[in-house]
Amino acid sequence: MPGWKYSLSLAAALLFALALAWSSLGRQIDFWAYDLLLRALPPSQQKSASVIVAIDEQTLETYGGLLALRSPLAQALDILSQADPLAVAVDVVLSEPRTPEENAPLAEALGRIPTVVLAANLRAEQGAGWEMPIEPFARHAAAVGHAHAEPDPDGVCRRVLLAKAHDRTRLWSMGLETHRVASGAPPIAETPQHLELGDARIPASYRDDRQLLLRFANPAQPIERISLARLLEDPSLAETVRGRAVFIGVLVLGGLDRYLMTPYSYGRPMAGVEINATVYETLARGRFLQPVSPATALLAALLIALVTAWIFHRFSGRTAVLFGAVALLAAHALPVVAFLQDAVFPASQSLLVGWMCFGVGAAWNYLGVGQARDRAERQTERYQKAVHYVTHEMRTPLTAIQGSSELISRYSLPEDRQRQIGELIHKESQRLSRMVEMFLSVERLSAGELELHRESVDADQLIAESVERLRPLAARKRIQIDHQPCDDAPIDGDRELLEYACYNLISNAVKYSPADTAISVRAWRENERTFVSVEDQGYGMDPSELRDIFKRFYRARTADRSGENGSGLGLALVEEIVVGHGGSIAVESQIDRGSRFTLDLPAALERTEP
Ligand code: ADP
Repeated sequence: MPGWKYSLSLAAALLFALALAWSSLGRQIDFWAYDLLLRALPPSQQKSASVIVAIDEQTLETYGGLLALRSPLAQALDILSQADPLAVAVDVVLSEPRTPEENAPLAEALGRIPTVVLAANLRAEQGAGWEMPIEPFARHAAAVGHAHAEPDPDGVCRRVLLAKAHDRTRLWSMGLETHRVASGAPPIAETPQHLELGDARIPASYRDDRQLLLRFANPAQPIERISLARLLEDPSLAETVRGRAVFIGVLVLGGLDRYLMTPYSYGRPMAGVEINATVYETLARGRFLQPVSPATALLAALLIALVTAWIFHRFSGRTAVLFGAVALLAAHALPVVAFLQDAVFPASQSLLVGWMCFGVGAAWNYLGVGQARDRAERQTERYQKAVHYVTHEMRTPLTAIQGSSELISRYSLPEDRQRQIGELIHKESQRLSRMVEMFLSVERLSAGELELHRESVDADQLIAESVERLRPLAARKRIQIDHQPCDDAPIDGDRELLEYACYNLISNAVKYSPADTAISVRAWRENERTFVSVEDQGYGMDPSELRDIFKRFYRARTADRSGENGSGLGLALVEEIVVGHGGSIAVESQIDRGSRFTLDLPAALERTEP
């Protein structure tokens, strides 16, 4: 797998995934995942900490609409106060002046309850400002809170701002004020990260506008509610609010203002009073959902990318895909695990990064497997060619031996003819055994089984002998072999193997050069190393093939052009020999320019006789 290209495409996938996660699409994915988790993992069922006294259809019908509500509201407050609720939040904005006669009973009823919280509203029209309860009522209120909840950009309400400011008036949310009053009215202190209420800490950072993620009640056990009209008919119903907070507000299906969709809505919006009661429930339960910090989320996304990258780098084929899928599964599990710890992880980041990196890794994996298959096919093809060549080469001496031995056994030949045939058989069988010996040597050398008979070998002499043996072959192609003599090039090594290495390099130079070119061979010594170089002006090789020519059976693409046969074993053996001597072989080549092979071997150090 080509390293840098793989890393680059993974880095690009990571950046693209992060850019997507930070776009509006990513935000929408985060909302979907959040709603899904909220619905899949609802809070455990328990009795609500508050009760909603609903101004419902029945109430409005019985008492003649919203405008005539002040008097029944006053009666309800009186009834409720008998049951000692922790706090009473009136989620109806009492901002209209009306007549003092109309207001008096309600003001008096409010005055009888020390824990009343009244609502203020921020009018929607621009610059309209706060709509506050009128003075006769506000005077009796323990607190005035804002009853405002704003939906997220997708129209769903998931959070409220615990503090809202306008025109230099900053109000705490009604749910928070009710919670404060219900807990004995400690002052609210602020730190950059928290709001503090006595000993209790509410995580609502200044950076996030003091937002509170709402823990909606388990749908199987919603916040308890009673109709205001029914309460007035049957005051004993008030008993249910003992020791709990009360939220009085309009709750009409298909309703009036301040209705919002929530993750639990399924198309049915939630009334403002229910949302404010939910703020209270969230605060009273004390289990807060908190977004993880952007740095943590980014770190986790990077970790997912790194693990996925490593898996596809380390493994291949199905194993890689399997482990990659496990990493992808972990990326999906991350937001779930975080949610179980009350932390909200941006699911878009882990999912998009997980999928993008998995996709790129799997694509490389697929390409890599394809390349390996191609390589295997080429190897098989090379192997078949080599076997074909070897069997062909063996057949020539075998045929000669067969024919000659048949001649001797069938006919009585004169003695000198018999000797001649005997010599031929001997020569051919030697050639055969040399060939077999060569194949075996490659195996034994690479297995480390061949022992080196070390002595001081004169490289110059090896070259001279090889050049002599190759002269007839070179002459046929009118190739000039230029050997520059050197009198100080001793190698510490095995004469026979080194001779084979030199002969092979020079014979390759002759084989893979066109007619009328020249070859230059020389040896020299530098300190404790002796070098042998063979340079030709032949067909050359593509530089991308230079690492492969030392593999067994590998033949360069230009080999076919030369019309020479070969097994592709020679250079494999040369390399084994050189490495076995503690040396190395280097090659430079350019197509149609020629090649230069250089051997670097340990020099034989002069031994001083005592
Ligand atoms: P063989 O000569 O039997 O094919 P070798 O192992 O000696 O096998 O060489 C492997 C391949 O390297 C050759 O097939 C040839 O393509 C290439 N090669 C070796 N020497 C040279 C050279 N001097 N010039 C061009 N190609 C060469």
